[in-house]
Amino acid sequence: MSSPVSSVDHALAVADAAKGFLPADEAEALRAAARSAPAGVWLEIGTYCGKSTVHLGTVAREVGARLVTVDHHRGSEENQPGWEWHDASLVDPHAGRIDTLPFLRRTLLDAGVEDVVDVVVGTTQSVARWWATPLSFLFLDGNHTEDVAQHDYAGFARHVVPGGVLAVHDVFPDPRDGGQPPWHVVQRAVSSGAFVEVSVHGSLRVLRRTDRPVT
Ligand code: MG
Repeated sequence: MSSPVSSVDHALAVADAAKGFLPADEAEALRAAARSAPAGVWLEIGTYCGKSTVHLGTVAREVGARLVTVDHHRGSEENQPGWEWHDASLVDPHAGRIDTLPFLRRTLLDAGVEDVVDVVVGTTQSVARWWATPLSFLFLDGNHTEDVAQHDYAGFARHVVPGGVLAVHDVFPDPRDGGQPPWHVVQRAVSSGAFVEVSVHGSLRVLRRTDRPVT
C-alpha cells in the first residue's frame, strides 16, 4: 500500500509540473532560504506561471508568513515570439500577447496555496512607487535587463528589514553562463554593506540584510 501524499508533497509535484525556469536543486535552496527568513510579509518579483511561487508558498504556510507575488504577466523580452524562451501556448489570442496569469491561477489552485499568496498584477515600476510594507524575505527574479534588475533592487530591497533575507535568481558571475544584471545586483548589494552573502546554490544567491542603508 502506498503512503498518502502529504499536501506539501502534492504542492511540490504541482510546482514541478508548472512551466518555469527553476531547477529542482535551486528550488530546494530557495525553500531553505525562505525558511531562514523571519515570518512577516514576503515578496516575490517575477511570478511567471507560479513555479517558485508554490515553493515559497509552501514554506510561507509552514512558518506563518504572507507571500505577495508581482508580475505584469505579459512575459519578459526573452519570452516574446521569436525569442529563445517563447512558449506559444502562453499567448492569449484575444490580447495577441502572452498572458501567464491564467496559468499562475491554475498552479496556485492545484497546489493548494491560493490562501497564502496575494497576487499583484502590475509592473514593478508601478508597484515600487506605492509599496511601503517592510519585508522579511525578498526574491528577485523579474526582468533581467540591467535597467529593470537595478530598478527592482533599488525599489524593493530597501524595504527588507535588518535580519531579513534577499534571494536573487539567475546570478551568473561568468558571462559565458548567462546575463550579467542579476550578478551586478548582488555585487551592488554586498559592496554597499546593506547585505552579506549567506549562500550560493547554482544561480541562486542568498543574502542577509544588515543595518546599513540600501544604496
Ligand atoms: Mg529566474
